[in-house]
Amino acid sequence: MRRPIIAGNWKMNTCRESAAALIDGLKSEAAQSRSDVEIIVCPPFPYLSLAVSQAAGSCIQVGGQNAWHEDSGAFTGETSCPMLKDIGCQWVILGHSERRQINKECDSLINKKTHKALATGLGVILCVGELLEQREGNQTEAVLEEQMTGGLADVSADDMASVVIAYEPVWAIGTGKVATEDQAEAAHAFLRSWLEKRFNADVAAATRILYGGSVKPDNAAGLLGQPNVDGALVGGASLKPELFNPIIQAGAASVA
Ligand code: PGA
Repeated sequence: MRRPIIAGNWKMNTCRESAAALIDGLKSEAAQSRSDVEIIVCPPFPYLSLAVSQAAGSCIQVGGQNAWHEDSGAFTGETSCPMLKDIGCQWVILGHSERRQINKECDSLINKKTHKALATGLGVILCVGELLEQREGNQTEAVLEEQMTGGLADVSADDMASVVIAYEPVWAIGTGKVATEDQAEAAHAFLRSWLEKRFNADVAAATRILYGGSVKPDNAAGLLGQPNVDGALVGGASLKPELFNPIIQAGAASVA
């Protein structure tokens, strides 16, 4: 049984006050759903420490939205995995499509970051997904295969216990154009069969594969009800407790 994960990617949003208020607004739902679903929030770097202390005593876990692949040194503007670990983060998102597109991150860089995060003891949420023209050109599976092969190069089957995959079709992110349940399920099933080929049946059966891209309270239950969808990575709707809490409930209900 794969325990669902509902993760919030706050991107470059919130301030000190709203970050604290947002976590407070999730705590009672988190208390009720605690054993059914894992809840992760990924605030911007300046508010990570605040989020860790605000979430203390609850089951809400905290992750970074990115990290660098060296421990320390002359890397102006970067944040290392040991720093995230040091302040109490348990997770890091790597390979988000905004970083692939805006910051030109390639699979080999994402792979280096993945190795460093795993060596540091952070869980990795590795994002993969195709562009609209790639979907329209029937290249979705080829793109997913390339991103998985590159991002997980030299990662061992044992290490996969700390890796979560997020399938995020780029055309569905922040656009309101959600993948249909069938489109999501087909991509997730493909990713799971890839995991079986690359690792083994146990890794394929145990790895959580989240869907991301315009997840909202009204579409969450349908997506999370798909057999190969094990949770959600939520952007816009993670910024309001009245939207994120029902998605957490849908995650808990998907195992009931
Ligand atoms: P969205 O973002 O829910 O706002 O579409 C998802 C993501 O980028 O992780």
